[in-house]
Amino acid sequence: MTKNIIVLGSTGSIGVQTLDVARMHNIGVKALTANRSIELLEKQAREFRPSLVAVADEESAKKLRIALADTDIRVAGGEEGVKEAASLDGADTAVNAIVGVAGLMPTLEAIRAGKTLALANKETLVAGGSVVKAEVKKYGTRLYPVDSEHSAIFQCLQGVPDKALKKVILTASGGAFYGKKREELVSVRVEDALRHPNWSMGAKITIDSATMMNKGLEVIEASWLFDVPDEKIDVLIHRESIVHSMIQLEDNSVIAQLGVPDMRIPIQYALTYPERLSSPVKELDLAELAMLTFARPDYDTFECLGICRRALRMGGLYPAVANAANEAAVSLFLSGKISFLQIPEAVGNAVEKFGGSGQNISLEDIIEADRETRRKVLG
Ligand code: NAD
Ligand code: MG
Repeated sequence: MTKNIIVLGSTGSIGVQTLDVARMHNIGVKALTANRSIELLEKQAREFRPSLVAVADEESAKKLRIALADTDIRVAGGEEGVKEAASLDGADTAVNAIVGVAGLMPTLEAIRAGKTLALANKETLVAGGSVVKAEVKKYGTRLYPVDSEHSAIFQCLQGVPDKALKKVILTASGGAFYGKKREELVSVRVEDALRHPNWSMGAKITIDSATMMNKGLEVIEASWLFDVPDEKIDVLIHRESIVHSMIQLEDNSVIAQLGVPDMRIPIQYALTYPERLSSPVKELDLAELAMLTFARPDYDTFECLGICRRALRMGGLYPAVANAANEAAVSLFLSGKISFLQIPEAVGNAVEKFGGSGQNISLEDIIEADRETRRKVLG
């Protein structure tokens, strides 16, 4: 393939699978970035020979520069380095697989450099949807979803006239604690929350799945991607993670996208759209599965889902505030400083107490709301 990509967050779960797809289809890799993990970055750099590797952590960048001294690969450090990688010449597409709102500025850099964006980093759209959409329009670039649900909807929408979409139906596995009630979640441990039934993913999104914040973030993400309000987005529990999402049309016909749970399908589709290339992902054997199940979500136990929907309806900076509170609370939970149920509590409080909104928000407003909310949650 004559395609060249930039992989932002190459050492993470999505980043590694993106490189898998690149390896399979001979896609060129022009830049790699990560936060730290320089051993893996070095290995990736030696295999894919990008012209630039950017490491957000300056100390790690120095170490990697020494490790790669025998190559002609340039190593940049800090936030500036990551931005430079995001807009590097010679690549047509940037895959954003950074975790958290740290991915927002690199997303904007890539768009402003005219890159097509393959977006896994949902926090970018949750916090900065209005700014990102405006920039995509201004620079005439394209944005393809990598998140499996959104890729499914995007796939289902092929050939569907805009006006025909009645609603989108996001499926959700229910996470590690599906079926449990609040009392049973009081003292769950980090290890329990990290045990996802179907997907192997980074720590943050796995916790988000356990709280169902992930589905809340995805409702907001879907709203920006497909231009649908909260009322037109349904969430359906589907434990098997085989139906990746669906759309319902004006005539009440429902179209779904199915496949075994493997992120390499949506990653590859975002990179090769509209082509369909071969894939190492296993064929789906529905007879062997025999049954697919569906249920309504439990909004009382998993409060984050309802809080995100409320934030979406209130608009403005509310989604950015919900996201920031969650990122801060998840980091506290992962380091053993707060309990599981304190995550929804922190997100709920942040949204409840947030005063400002305003529909015409700027990037600066988003960054400020994000910083201020984190500061309050982290105490
Ligand atoms: P991960 O924690 O496994 O990887 C995150 C990557 O981002 C790492 O390479 C890390 O070094 C890098 N990173 C972190 N902070 C950075 C910074 N400031 N600058 C540059 N790089 C930085 O996360 P993941 O599970 O791969 O998820 C990545 C994103 O994709 C998240 O937004 C997540 O919600 C989304 N997503 C993931 C999956 C999945 O299956 N893992 C599925 C759907 C969506
Ligand atoms: Mg998803």
